[in-house]
Amino acid sequence: MTPSNNAPRLLMRQLHEIMASADEAEVRLNNVVHLVASNMVAEVCSAYFIRGGETLELFATEGLKSEAVHITRLRVGEGLVGLVASTGSSLNLSNAQDHPKFAYRPETGEDIFKSMMAVPILRTGKVVGVLAVQNKASRHYSEEEEEALQTVAMVLAELVVSGDLITAQENNGGNLDRGSISHFEGTVFAEGLAEGVAVMHEPRVEILQHLSEDYNQQKKSLDAGFDSLLSQIDEIMSAEDIIHHGEHREILDVYKLFASDKGWRVKIESAIESGLTAEAAVEKIQVENRSKMMKTQDPYLRERLSDLDDLANRLIRHLMGKAGTAATKTLPKNAVVIAQNMGPAELLDYDRDKLKAVILQEGSSTSHVAIVARALGIPMLGQLDEGLLDIEEGVQIIVHGLDGEVYISPPPEILESYRDTIAARAKLLARYDDMRDKPVVTKDGVEIELVVNGGLTMDIEGMHRTGAKGVGLFRTEFQFMISKTLPRIHQQAEFYKSILDAAKGKSVTFRTLDIGGDKEVSFLKRDKEENPALGWRAIRIALDRPALLRYQLRALITAAAGTTLNVMFPMITNVGEFKLAKSILEKELARHRKNGRPMPDDVKVGTMLEVPSLVWQLDDLLSHVDFVSVGSNDLMQFFYASDRENPRISNRYDILSPPSLSMLRFIVEKCDKNNVPLTLCGEVGGKAVGALALLAIGYRRLSIAPAAVGPVKMMIRSLDLKRAEQFIDQLLSRSDHSIRDELKRFAQENNVKI
Ligand code: PEP
Ligand code: MG
Repeated sequence: MTPSNNAPRLLMRQLHEIMASADEAEVRLNNVVHLVASNMVAEVCSAYFIRGGETLELFATEGLKSEAVHITRLRVGEGLVGLVASTGSSLNLSNAQDHPKFAYRPETGEDIFKSMMAVPILRTGKVVGVLAVQNKASRHYSEEEEEALQTVAMVLAELVVSGDLITAQENNGGNLDRGSISHFEGTVFAEGLAEGVAVMHEPRVEILQHLSEDYNQQKKSLDAGFDSLLSQIDEIMSAEDIIHHGEHREILDVYKLFASDKGWRVKIESAIESGLTAEAAVEKIQVENRSKMMKTQDPYLRERLSDLDDLANRLIRHLMGKAGTAATKTLPKNAVVIAQNMGPAELLDYDRDKLKAVILQEGSSTSHVAIVARALGIPMLGQLDEGLLDIEEGVQIIVHGLDGEVYISPPPEILESYRDTIAARAKLLARYDDMRDKPVVTKDGVEIELVVNGGLTMDIEGMHRTGAKGVGLFRTEFQFMISKTLPRIHQQAEFYKSILDAAKGKSVTFRTLDIGGDKEVSFLKRDKEENPALGWRAIRIALDRPALLRYQLRALITAAAGTTLNVMFPMITNVGEFKLAKSILEKELARHRKNGRPMPDDVKVGTMLEVPSLVWQLDDLLSHVDFVSVGSNDLMQFFYASDRENPRISNRYDILSPPSLSMLRFIVEKCDKNNVPLTLCGEVGGKAVGALALLAIGYRRLSIAPAAVGPVKMMIRSLDLKRAEQFIDQLLSRSDHSIRDELKRFAQENNVKI
């Protein structure tokens, strides 16, 4: 099949000839502006490129005074050309001089030209220059002409990629625009400090070849690219591919809609017909979409722009055979990975020796990816300002995972202060180490038990290193999440035994599989759910697929032979579910005994308390359980109806506020009255101020990340608990949105180290 429309194809062929010639880059550029001017019947065609990150310089012109070349310069944002560079969108003006941004440069002689059309020259989405045409008469350039000029601009970006005309370094000024995006602020999800180089989790790829004469080949390649893009989206949506798990479903729905949109595909095909490679055609259509959508006032459409950009980039990656995440590529030895968002399994996919820090544009601190980062001791920041994903790969980055700051290509003074912080932190960590064997007792003599949350072998080492008394929550799902196939019973048993052995007699509480929600496993097919956090997850899956639970319990019983087995069930919503799960455990124990296998010395069975409904069944529940563990991460998301994974609302309600603390205190009162041991294993206990509030309302056992043990212990040892109890008492009846600041003030006034 041959394309029918030959006019754009002719321009492309001539462009191809010029770009493929052996001429110097500057000569090729001159030939291109000449070609464009004659093709569009324009008196002027000029190409500007950015130098030093902020100045646009005239590199070639047909029609303006030739003396102006390399002399005429504009700041990005100055004049009409500067405006196109700063906004990244095109201008099409029949009377340019009426525009408030018009800036006249006498050396160019452009005062006689009335109409102007200017488009950005983009490289991987960033403006590297501007291509403009002008006419003396007041004239309206057609949409087709605008598209043609955008295509030429795209091809000109090759001159920057190749470095023949101007190097990318020169184009960037060797650095980023310091004033705007060299510094970001975000929220600390996992504490720590790191220095390294930027690696994009889902890298943007550079298009190296824009023009192709082989239409059929490009068309085939586009078909294959679409097939693999659509199947990737399907995989993500059916949550089968744990590598790409974690993205918001809403976005994926939009992706699917766009990706299946016939109009989009037809436009790309026609761009290929005009002589572009498949990947360049996708980029061209995206540039056009972008420019149209930037002009719209509709906020919904503007919001969709970044989804569309992302989708187009994904398609380009598929077309160029570069679809995986950076985890599958060779990483530099000090990688700071930057992502929009990622799932916990994706994080576990990275080589931990090389991964120094992770920065997420979105995320939330109680999301599982953040929990895994804390478990791995990898500093993680999230909820950063826009622009993060635009930084150059390979630039130096400092991640200040204590105060939530990120510095891109930091100047020497920042580097120096960062290194001072490292030294101070090393001292602080040494102080925590010194406290390892000191008792965890408040100043007024109340003993507190600190245990750790874990899910990986290294957490046990963390428990010993910090002097914690045991593992209060072992998230067994992590082993399943990093495995592509269902771990067999003997593999599970071996793993649990290795954990118990490593714990050397300290107690470990295993939580049975808590999958679903944002924790996906590759081997369990699940339907798409509108509200996965409220969906088929944790004990609900276990009771519907009892074989999975039975095998896991069998593995746990085997591993705990000769010692105590502590086991608890996640997401129990009513007493009936707990009784059912417990009866399955009892059956497995009986079966084990009957088969003459070595038995655990003792078995303690408890529940996570993560669903508000269970709080109102405590009187009944407590007679069936050996212990209770409050999962405040989930409990709070259900209590406040506020998705813990959604960055927009994850900080909207504060757990340190009267309603939630009152509920948490109610749980303490019930457990105390019934003599049932109680632990809290949510993230709030891992922050000194959170732990302070929990102790003040009666909690005496906290299960926290190993890295939190030192700071929390330091707080406890400086606390007069009686005073804190009295203080919080009078706060709980208030209607404040949060009492966090009051608690901090209390700590400051009473020398409590938080
Ligand atoms: C919780 O919900 O508080 C909890 C500890 O479980 P997870 O964070 O694994 O959901
Ligand atoms: Mg939970």
